[in-house]
Amino acid sequence: MSAIRRVEVSGGTTYSIEIGAGLLDDGARLARTVRGRHALIVSDENVAPLYLARLEAALHASRPSLSVAHFVIPPGEHEKTLARFGECLGALAALGATRDASVIALGGGVVGDLAGFAAACWMRGIDCVQVPTTLLAMVDSSVGGKTAVDLPSGKNLVGAFHPPRAVIADTTALRTLPDRELRAGLAEVVKYGAIFDASFLDWLEAHAEALLARDDEALAEAVARSCRYKADVVARDLYEHGDRAMLNFGHTFGHAIETEQGYAGTRGDGLNHGEAVAVGMVLAARLSAALGRASAADVDRLKHLLERLDLPTSIPDGLAPQALLERMRLDKKADAAGLRFILWDKAGAARIVAGVPDDAVLAVLAAG
Ligand code: ADP
Ligand code: ZN
Repeated sequence: MSAIRRVEVSGGTTYSIEIGAGLLDDGARLARTVRGRHALIVSDENVAPLYLARLEAALHASRPSLSVAHFVIPPGEHEKTLARFGECLGALAALGATRDASVIALGGGVVGDLAGFAAACWMRGIDCVQVPTTLLAMVDSSVGGKTAVDLPSGKNLVGAFHPPRAVIADTTALRTLPDRELRAGLAEVVKYGAIFDASFLDWLEAHAEALLARDDEALAEAVARSCRYKADVVARDLYEHGDRAMLNFGHTFGHAIETEQGYAGTRGDGLNHGEAVAVGMVLAARLSAALGRASAADVDRLKHLLERLDLPTSIPDGLAPQALLERMRLDKKADAAGLRFILWDKAGAARIVAGVPDDAVLAVLAAG
């Protein structure tokens, strides 16, 4: 087995993220993160047939006394509901879970958010161990402690800050991930380079092919570096009052595209979240250049890297600039002072800018 990378996260509680090939079968490591006598594994119908038995066997081998049950939901964002949350609590009740029980989230962001929120609420909070199986969950949602479910009126409207007890990311689980899901995760990886570290963009340029080929070492390095950037910003700003908002680079535009398409990406006929963020980052970079912040060369560099990763870089046909602008006004990230964006000073350095004039935004949207 190759080296295991470890990232410590602090701020509120402290936990570690461990990244490496084969960690799913490392029962001793998994068992160390589980304190009590009960564990509920939450997963979905795509992931469970691939990895649930392995995880259960590994846990059983190193802790035979642990009472393990599972709760498996159908796949997809539309399953992140209060109804599934209630069923998950029911599964904890059926297991006889006590205050030292653990929830283990085995899956992508949907499973992680739902399982994390159930853990946050069961007996006012029990341990949640995140075992992310998508790249997006490894580099983003499993780290930082945001948990939530959706309501019919909007995404993530009910939730809690509940940092995990540990995050265990096995890069070999990414071998079965559909191509589009892998690329969506890579968009968020590029985001970290774009806002925090131009040298990480160099690294990504040098390893684009290896990442697309799912090379374990390249993936582990990309996940570890991404988690480190996120851990740094989360430690400074656990509850998202300031710096953590930097992670929304590309997301104001991206969310407008996602909502204008009616979250079509979750049905497969529009952009998914990572793809929308890829387009959003290019738009944010171009807006930065238009406002005299970033250079055109930096914008081209970002666009070229995203293209090499097979990600979209322009607004899909049929989305009107004015409609997208209206969506951004309704976004919870907007405020009375006008639109707020995360803008580049240059590649690797971004800041939050309020009061961005509508006409500058419209010009960028109109150029596509
Ligand atoms: P996210 O992209 O936010 O992590 P999901 O939890 O919706 O989102 O996962 C994306 C899709 O990928 C879901 O259909 C899920 O079942 C599937 N999936 C997750 N992990 C794997 C994996 N390792 N192999 C195959 N499919 C996976
Ligand atoms: Zn995102």
